[in-house]
Amino acid sequence: MGERPAHQPKVMREAHAHLLAHGRAMDMVQLESCTTAQEMLDAIADAAVGRELVLAHGARPESWLEPGWPTLDELDYASPETSVAVWCFDYHAMMVNSNALNAIGFGIDTPNPDGGQIGRKPDGALSGVLYEASAGLAWKQLEPKGIDAGELQRSIDDLAEHGFTHVHDLKAQPGLGEAFKSVHIPHDFRLVLYPLVQDLPETLKTRSDWQSDQIRLGGGKIFVDGTLNSRTAWMLHPFADGRGEHPAGMQLMSDKSIEDAIRLCVGEGLQLTAHAIGDAAVRAVLDAAERARAPRGSVRIEHAEVIDEADVPRFAELGVIASVQPCHLLYDIEALRRACPDRLERVLPLRELIDSGLKPGRNILFGSDTPIVRPNPEDSILAATNRGRADMALAEGIAPGQAISEDEAWACFDADA
Ligand SMILES: [Zn+2]
Repeated sequence: MGERPAHQPKVMREAHAHLLAHGRAMDMVQLESCTTAQEMLDAIADAAVGRELVLAHGARPESWLEPGWPTLDELDYASPETSVAVWCFDYHAMMVNSNALNAIGFGIDTPNPDGGQIGRKPDGALSGVLYEASAGLAWKQLEPKGIDAGELQRSIDDLAEHGFTHVHDLKAQPGLGEAFKSVHIPHDFRLVLYPLVQDLPETLKTRSDWQSDQIRLGGGKIFVDGTLNSRTAWMLHPFADGRGEHPAGMQLMSDKSIEDAIRLCVGEGLQLTAHAIGDAAVRAVLDAAERARAPRGSVRIEHAEVIDEADVPRFAELGVIASVQPCHLLYDIEALRRACPDRLERVLPLRELIDSGLKPGRNILFGSDTPIVRPNPEDSILAATNRGRADMALAEGIAPGQAISEDEAWACFDADA
């Protein structure tokens, strides 16, 4: 680690990580530096030599010079014999080749699963691109089975190297707590696990076997919408370039099931963390917290990338925590300008949230969502203070009026706040 920045808190918390996926991604083909579909195809062709399966991540087809995935024929040409699965960096869409489609049993007659879409060409043939739940189904069949302690160890070591000692896992797999018994965790580390709400009953049963003063169960996690990049974030206004069937994104949970999830977690004395990226999803969670009369601090909204002006004061009023990842702005600027040019002022309104009464580090928390983007805290500091990349002037950034000070930004990582 380099020198400690003057404002950096002593106890640094990464409030939104995926520990197993982070360790696993360190072993996958990394496509973050690709700027065209051809570069992705070249990297896949190189990696496929002598392998049965190539797993890759970090692709940003929406941001490429010519936006969009390659065709299925092109991917098949790059890797005719090896199965290939390429995650979009946001882990909400995936492209697979024909070998992988055969391996997972997806064909022209396969219906879309609930909450997912199987990409098709105009003639109905598969495009190889899978969205949301259909990508998840494919991954379940393709990914390495089980939890590997080596992957977890790599993950912990890497986060420690980035200066973190407190880490929240926002989609803890069943068995994750148990698996940490075979991992060396530095003595000052604290891990908080948030499994999916549907995995919560099972996790509660085993909790006493693994919970310690270093690892604890924090609550449950739900997904209320998709992502901006896949245009599946659930928005109050349609995207400027939305998909035919879902012009304003996707609502992945009913209002009633959001409320039920809150009640379930609160009933166990736990928190409910809700993935909500679009302003409609954020509002739905705030509404549900209000209806359920959730105790202050018991509901956390993860991401909250777009927040309507009317909803900003409701965080402090209802005691709902905003858990945000400003670092995504550095990658999403171009995509945001295409997706919601009229709503850019509503992207990550950090200035308004703090002015409305949220206290950095206590009820407004920073994280990275690693492995979706790298867990460098400096990236979030830059995005929160400059609203854009280092080579951009503040005025060129997204909603420059929402910039906060460097002190405030570092404080959002402070686990002692
Ligand atoms: Zn996440």
